[in-house]
Amino acid sequence: MSRLVIVSNRVALPGEGAQRSGGLVTALVDALHQAGGLWFGSSGKLAETPSAPNVLEADGVTYATVDLTRADHDGYYSGLSNAALWPLFHYRLDLVNFTRRDFAAYLRVNARLADTLAPLLKPNDVVWVHDYHLIPMADELRRVGARQRIGFFLHTPFPSLGVLATLPHYIELLKSLCAYDLVGFQTIEDLTAFHDAVVRRAGGKVSADGSIRAFDRDLRSGVFPIGVDPDAIANMAARAVKSRTTRRLQGSLRGRQLIIGVDRLDYSKGLEHRFKAFASFLESYPVQRDHVRLLQIATATRSDVPEYRALRQRLGALAGDIAGRYAQLDWAPIQYLNRSFSQQSLAGFFRISRVALVTPLRDGMNLVAKEYVAAQSPEDPGVLVLSPFAGAAYELDAALIANPYDPDAVAEALQKALLMPTEERRQRWQAMMQILRRHSITAWRESFLRVLNG
Ligand code: ADP
Repeated sequence: MSRLVIVSNRVALPGEGAQRSGGLVTALVDALHQAGGLWFGSSGKLAETPSAPNVLEADGVTYATVDLTRADHDGYYSGLSNAALWPLFHYRLDLVNFTRRDFAAYLRVNARLADTLAPLLKPNDVVWVHDYHLIPMADELRRVGARQRIGFFLHTPFPSLGVLATLPHYIELLKSLCAYDLVGFQTIEDLTAFHDAVVRRAGGKVSADGSIRAFDRDLRSGVFPIGVDPDAIANMAARAVKSRTTRRLQGSLRGRQLIIGVDRLDYSKGLEHRFKAFASFLESYPVQRDHVRLLQIATATRSDVPEYRALRQRLGALAGDIAGRYAQLDWAPIQYLNRSFSQQSLAGFFRISRVALVTPLRDGMNLVAKEYVAAQSPEDPGVLVLSPFAGAAYELDAALIANPYDPDAVAEALQKALLMPTEERRQRWQAMMQILRRHSITAWRESFLRVLNG
């Protein structure tokens, strides 16, 4: 059996943030444990000068991490990855901040990571690279002589050609993607956009089975929707409802219905649109005032990118406006928290929420949608209101699908969810749960690796 090597921007070291790390980390570590493996990436720490990798062994898995210099981190991570590729891949051209200097840092860091990884590789290894930070990795590994099978999975959306082509170096990125043996996407829309770009701008040929011939190479491509471990989440949620944290939240509701949103504080999540839609709901259905509460948990991330700081301010103001306009002496319509919770607490919150609002403007998958469904009680499940622009909507079509750009549509869906009879809630939930079980996180990992190895 070949050894698995996982390459990602950040490495989750054993014991580090174990409470917060979700199913993805667990699934990858499980795979590494199965055949003994290596997880390689940056440490998240800064160093004055590039250093040798820090290597740690635990339970048969090797963790190798690299410290970046401040200039490398700023250009590669905060710059090209998070201020250019992230907004571009999420269709936010207005927020793209591209500079040639950042692009040079992106290539430099990828080259450096490849130089550091190459000597750690064994001839029969299978390498699995994750996400938009590391698109040039296979190209760079090939440059230093790597002959191993290398696969790439994009966790974000892949934009359509008209959007992609605004990136000055998009042909280079396409060429880099074609240096892999397998490129995987979350949805058919992402895969089709990639094929379209390869055919129309690189003269590539794409076969019906996803095989591609482009840039003098043969590779495969496919859709591998990432999943969760639904039964583990269900068990966790059933336990969590008895916990002090969940009981405290439940008690504070005094019989009102809870509507929940859980997101990283990111413009792709459509939080401003969501808050406005909630205000429109309170306006259109005044009888619901005093009967519901929106709990929005939004953890701040990437605070070194200016747009994220500005968004945080706007959201705070919007939440304040809604509270100011609608709150009563003994009722607050919205509870807005900028902190994170353990997976266990979230599972408990999900289970006691009658509705989840998952309304991103664009999202690769959105695991919160799947976690919410998995956490519901089978007898009395809640309702998922889901944006059609989340990858999850391609599988969870039994959710109430609502366009986040149409506040009235979201308000209507919210009202429908709150009034939905138990039988319909159960039917929709069962349909979604079946899909979650079929497309579990384990199935995702195994199907990707099967094709990569095949
Ligand atoms: P993204 O990868 O863009 O952040 P996803 O919805 O796909 O979006 O994944 C987010 C993951 O982070 C989920 O597993 C979710 O449970 C977790 N998460 C999001 N917000 C919080 C929070 N406030 N506290 C703890 N975990 C969170």
